[in-house]
Amino acid sequence: MTAETSKEVWVYIEQEEKAIHPVSFELLGVAKRLAQDLEGITAGVLLGHEVSDLTSEIFAYGADKVYIVSHPALAYYRHRAYAKALYEVAKRYKPEILLLPATPLGRDLAGGVATLLETGLTADVTELSIDKATKNLLMTRPAYGGNIMATIICPDHRPQMASVRPRIFPMPERKEGRTGEIITVEVELSEEEVGVERIGFIPKEKTVKIELAEVIVAGGKGIGGKEGFAKLFELSKLLNGEVGASRLAVEAGWISYEHQVGQTGKTVRPKVYLAVGISGAIQHRAGMQNSDCIISINIDPKADIFKISDLGIVGDWKKIIPALIERIKKEKGLG
Ligand SMILES: Cc1cc2nc3c(=O)[nH]c(=O)nc-3n(C[C@H](O)[C@H](O)[C@H](O)COP(=O)(O)OP(=O)(O)OC[C@H]3O[C@@H](n4cnc5c(N)ncnc54)[C@H](O)[C@@H]3O)c2cc1C
Repeated sequence: MTAETSKEVWVYIEQEEKAIHPVSFELLGVAKRLAQDLEGITAGVLLGHEVSDLTSEIFAYGADKVYIVSHPALAYYRHRAYAKALYEVAKRYKPEILLLPATPLGRDLAGGVATLLETGLTADVTELSIDKATKNLLMTRPAYGGNIMATIICPDHRPQMASVRPRIFPMPERKEGRTGEIITVEVELSEEEVGVERIGFIPKEKTVKIELAEVIVAGGKGIGGKEGFAKLFELSKLLNGEVGASRLAVEAGWISYEHQVGQTGKTVRPKVYLAVGISGAIQHRAGMQNSDCIISINIDPKADIFKISDLGIVGDWKKIIPALIERIKKEKGLG
């Protein structure tokens, strides 16, 4: 798409079962900053069936406008229905920028919509800004195995599209009672053209959700095996946290992929990230370096992880972790 645009910065609001994924709010925060630099406005695009109750939350997190498409064919996520609806809205209202979450759903949707709109898409960006001279969107992401950061532009086509992983950007302030304009968009959809029917649904509670954890106890190759990870699970439970892992620990089969943190795993932003037996390779750091407080335990005083740690403990985790567990249990009166 190359025509004149509206100077609107759009965020695709991801909802499933009428619950908005928090990454959508994180993206509204970024969209606000970009819109200010473009002297434009921020809008959320909400697709679903009978989801208008969700608009107040979208305004509370900073949207000036919300575009809604409500249709029975959008009652649950199906690629063709959602891609067509988002494409139709973008074609009609011509946003300058369209941001989507790099969640499994967002990734699936983003590629299809970019193809329909005949524009570019930069996946998994870690920084977004506006070029002061050209007003183009500067989309930065790791490239060549995470060894360099590449800044990508989309100068000839609109909208400029990017997907962003959860927890890359901070959650903006929520302002209760904030309102804005609601635009209801009609899109024709039929079951025949969607062509897919859902026959089962596995609720999210059954999957590991480390992205939203406030405390993460993460283990690496230095943990040495499944028995070591059992200790990390014990500690994380005491701290009401989750267990994370480096890719080498996952590849060794000590813990499942859902726990992997890093460039090819999840991005996390907990209040406390305890890195145990993790060297701190750039691809691991890419997924956790925005944590509020990083504490590391490593036997090697020269380990790279210490360079980004707020607190570093040089020592053997086999001595430190059991001692920590005992101390916390004692403090909590558990034994
Ligand atoms: C394209 C690409 C994508 C990648 N994506 C990811 C990714 O998403 N996530 C990721 O993590 N990696 C990723 N990697 C791999 C990454 O480069 C590193 O190989 C990996 O992060 C290292 O894992 P580690 O720190 O557990 O292991 P190591 O580098 O082997 O470090 C183990 C650490 O444990 C310490 N240690 C050993 N024994 C003890 C002990 N008893 N007590 C305390 N400390 C101890 C050692 O001193 C060492 O520092 C990727 C690589 C590539 C090329």
